[in-house]
Amino acid sequence: MKTILLADMDAFFASVEQRCNPALRGKPIGVTGPAHRSVITTASYEARRFGVKTGMSIREAKALCPQLILVTGDNDKYTHICTALKEVYLSFTPVVEVYSIDEAFLDITGSSHLFGGPIETGRRLKAEIQRRFGISATIGIGPNRLLAKLASDISKPDGLRLIEASEAGPLLKDLPPEKLWGIGAKTAEKLKRLGIRTCGELASAPAGLLRSCFGVMGERLRALGMGVDSTPLHADQEEEGGPGGTKSIGHSTTLPHDLFRRSEMAHWILRLSEKVGSRARRHGLTGRTVTLIMRYRSFETFERRRGLGAATNDTHTIFRTAMDILSSTRLKEPVRLLGVTLCGIEQADTQLALFGGEDRRAGLLRVMDMLNMKYGPSTLTWAACKGESPHRGIISPAWRPSGAHRSL
Ligand SMILES: [Mg+2]
Repeated sequence: MKTILLADMDAFFASVEQRCNPALRGKPIGVTGPAHRSVITTASYEARRFGVKTGMSIREAKALCPQLILVTGDNDKYTHICTALKEVYLSFTPVVEVYSIDEAFLDITGSSHLFGGPIETGRRLKAEIQRRFGISATIGIGPNRLLAKLASDISKPDGLRLIEASEAGPLLKDLPPEKLWGIGAKTAEKLKRLGIRTCGELASAPAGLLRSCFGVMGERLRALGMGVDSTPLHADQEEEGGPGGTKSIGHSTTLPHDLFRRSEMAHWILRLSEKVGSRARRHGLTGRTVTLIMRYRSFETFERRRGLGAATNDTHTIFRTAMDILSSTRLKEPVRLLGVTLCGIEQADTQLALFGGEDRRAGLLRVMDMLNMKYGPSTLTWAACKGESPHRGIISPAWRPSGAHRSL
């Protein structure tokens, strides 16, 4: 049995703004995006008491709460804290999936005993977040992601709650399915038409009925109704093992929206390949196998690998190989997460690289890496990576800090 912890910041953007400006503390504030100033991105809890919600127009919000103070969001501040939060998470467990800018899943199965058990781990993490950033987080803990998320949702704000596997049945029995993570309003509406109004009813619904209505998702929906969710955490990894202790170098990202067309996935794969390649080059490592990880909308997760003729840390080769894997994969459903991993890690042979046929590109990569190290990641990058900059407009909920540690 696993122990999964979800750390979810309370009213994240608003809390950060209130922390930075004491004049805003205890007041109803609404944070707007730098580019979309007509919509509330996050409301402080003081504003929520008036009914102000995320996604509301400023006019609606002001009508509910005339004294609402509007603050223009600062994405750099939030991404900086998100990155720093990841460091805090990593001091509790090496298995961390930053799920969105203010939520992260931690697999504490193997580490919670070091901190006095799951609840005590949660308490310490909460205290550390408060101490370092002056903001509150709600911690949900459970045997899987679904129940960890539910534990957090029902104890917000500033909560801490553990749901045991044995509690799932009674807790879910009368809960409407849309309260579960992964079941949206549209699915809930379809379920209602089948006469299914609670998770209890969903759990005991005939498998055939669900399959005929939802296809492959049917099985998963029924499992969710029972509080069962075996989706693994997807952590950026740098596994111990090979030279310098590294067995693989990987990055993954949850896409801002599900994608089905390969052409639309290409620039995400390029971006991930560049993260992997630059990290390998920084450590003087190369790899012999490229793995592409895909997670479908239904959360089914799988990976395909392909060996390389020669060990490499060249972004372009990693990208081409990952794209080859993608084009030979028959996609059954839209994809919500992509990951690229370089395995079979060995020390880079610089002698060979100098006289190999790829010397011009190797030179280009060296210059790129140098500039990016000096002026920040993505100072210089491939044109195709520029498409969806995470810093334009409202920050994407899928924004995640890179797993790489940049030394100054
Ligand atoms: Mg939150």
